[in-house]
Amino acid sequence: MSVTRDTPLTSFPGVGEARAKKLEKLGLTAAGDLLTYYPRDYEDRRTLYSIQDAPLEGRVCVAAVIAERPRLAALRQGLDLVKARAVDDAGTLDLTFFNQNYVCQSLRPGEEYIFYGAVEKRGSLHAMVNPIFERAGGQSFTGCIMPVYPLTAGISNHLLASLVRRALPCAASLSETLPQHIRQEHRLASLEFSIKNIHFPEHEEALDLAKRRLTFEELFYLSVGLSFLRDRRDRAGGGLVIRPQDKEAFLSLLPFAPTQAQSRVMDEVAADLSSGRPMNRLVQGDVGSGKTAVAACAGWLCAASGFQTALMAPTEVLAEQHFRSLSQLLAPAGVRVGLLTGALTAAEKRKTHAALAAGEIDLIVGTHALISAGVKFSRLALIVADEQHRFGVAQRAALAAKSGEDVTPHVLVMSATPIPRTLALIIYGDLDVSVIDQLPPGRTPISTYVVREDKRQRMYNFVREQVGQGRQVYIICPAVGEDPEAGEASAATELKAVKSYTEKLQREVFPELTVGLLHGKMRPKEKEAAMSAFVRGETQVLVSTTVVEVGVDVPNASLIIIENADRFGLSQLHQLRGRVGRGKHPSHCVLITSTRSLEAMQRLRTLASTTDGFKISEEDLKARGPGDFFGNRQHGLPQMKLADLAGDMRLLSETQEAARSLLAGDPQLALPENQPVLERVRRLFADTPDIFN
Ligand code: ADP
Ligand code: MG
Repeated sequence: MSVTRDTPLTSFPGVGEARAKKLEKLGLTAAGDLLTYYPRDYEDRRTLYSIQDAPLEGRVCVAAVIAERPRLAALRQGLDLVKARAVDDAGTLDLTFFNQNYVCQSLRPGEEYIFYGAVEKRGSLHAMVNPIFERAGGQSFTGCIMPVYPLTAGISNHLLASLVRRALPCAASLSETLPQHIRQEHRLASLEFSIKNIHFPEHEEALDLAKRRLTFEELFYLSVGLSFLRDRRDRAGGGLVIRPQDKEAFLSLLPFAPTQAQSRVMDEVAADLSSGRPMNRLVQGDVGSGKTAVAACAGWLCAASGFQTALMAPTEVLAEQHFRSLSQLLAPAGVRVGLLTGALTAAEKRKTHAALAAGEIDLIVGTHALISAGVKFSRLALIVADEQHRFGVAQRAALAAKSGEDVTPHVLVMSATPIPRTLALIIYGDLDVSVIDQLPPGRTPISTYVVREDKRQRMYNFVREQVGQGRQVYIICPAVGEDPEAGEASAATELKAVKSYTEKLQREVFPELTVGLLHGKMRPKEKEAAMSAFVRGETQVLVSTTVVEVGVDVPNASLIIIENADRFGLSQLHQLRGRVGRGKHPSHCVLITSTRSLEAMQRLRTLASTTDGFKISEEDLKARGPGDFFGNRQHGLPQMKLADLAGDMRLLSETQEAARSLLAGDPQLALPENQPVLERVRRLFADTPDIFN
């Protein structure tokens, strides 16, 4: 069979209807898809050992000759066993296979095979259980560096590797995508070589070359795309000049003295706003560092110059909270604060739209509703995006376009998710960064405990104790319907689980307390009611899904319990934990798990051992890769396959350099030889419309 990139996988041997479906789940339908389905790891199977010399650690390849016909024995119903014996010059290897009866036919006495598996020593005998094997000579998965692929249920690594092997010849038909001079300048291998060696490397050096080229390529297209975005913004014109004000006038509104870090960042923002260039600033500060005050200061400055500010929050719960606290804070200074969320009735929305257009609102707080078509501003000068990792590059571009005409609004992005430096460079490469590296005084660090089910009663007692002291408690359950893979049915099941758990807590565990419920599937009004009951202290225990994950600020809450903690990412757990420890009370975070996975336990312990957000996010990035880092691809970054962003710092700056120099010579990528690059960037940023205007 001659394979082209379009050959459907169903015409590959061993791929029937059912397997094809599973492969499709991995994004694999045709031979060409396999070429870019990169391994996540490799196993070095190059050394062939003799039986005596085989190390007793890890899995190894042993070459030996089958000495006698394999014997089949039925151990019991449903469990068959094949025994075989292999020998070489000096040793004997006992082979056992469970439920693989075909082995009887495929292992022939007198033939030499390569067996791959763990070798054990039993007395003077060597033994292997369930090794994989193939005939010596025409080997394809022993005696080589073997790729290890990301898998799904029903698809083995062995199957994938053999499919890839069959598909590899069509790599020859791929046309080179990187301009020749860039390949030369940066000493990059050809595409064909790289694709072949990323799957089945001839040796380590070849693998390194392949990785380098393919990673470079990914980062290169990304850099070119981001440069386009940046250029577009720079061309968009001058910024509105916001007059500086007496900062003391703002500080006197605050119920606390700002930390030094807050004060410094306020100054940086004020300087941007008055500079005449559009501000593009990211404010990074760990949970609880007090970013809201910085946003308030910026909004106050704009209002004082007669301009409007739009503050976007990722959830309605958070938008309501900002609305409440900013109204309270800024009303005495005459700043008119409004709220625009999906929770408003059509009539209320119309009224708010009209007020915005008439300039009767100075600071509007809202969710995505703010970028909906109906919203017109009269003099929008500043956009604040709170918890920006939920607002990706695409949304930022949409917002910036919102101001219309020829002014470019100032943009302030606030994020508590500490982003590793490399990743930040990529996502926010076009932003200036301010860091609030200090927590308000008087906070006591949050104590974190990882516990198993057997501690549940003690934990409930702890809840009573905290509430007895006047505090409040969050109990977090895995999100309702957040996992798109899980589908509606499982969302419904989880929702039911959260509801019945809440009822059970109220009825059986805490009859003397008030237990509330908050989840994403509630109507906006119900959410608002549930949240404000907790804010007012009427609800003592709030059972919630991750809708409270970011931003929610109830300083009286001192305990957060996270059920099934192993189902959350580390950064997400850190965010959730940040819901407590926001006031003067000593605070606690309990992570409940019944996981058996050592790795999962290790992750939870990492969280328990540190409150350093940066350290946590580095760990998270390592464990999950950049694609998942922000969940659901909400970061607006194209999915990348290879780039290990935690480690590819040097390569990243090299690609940025290459992108700059390419665009310097051909800013619109109009030259014929740059068409493949333009094409690839387009595809990479397919989800980010308008970047090419
Ligand atoms: P985040 O950075 O997580 O958005 P917030 O702005 O919500 O943090 O602030 C967290 C809590 O700390 C709020 O209750 C806020 O009123 C309080 N706070 C902020 N700055 C200070 C400060 N300088 N001194 C005392 N409390 C502060
Ligand atoms: Mg916040």
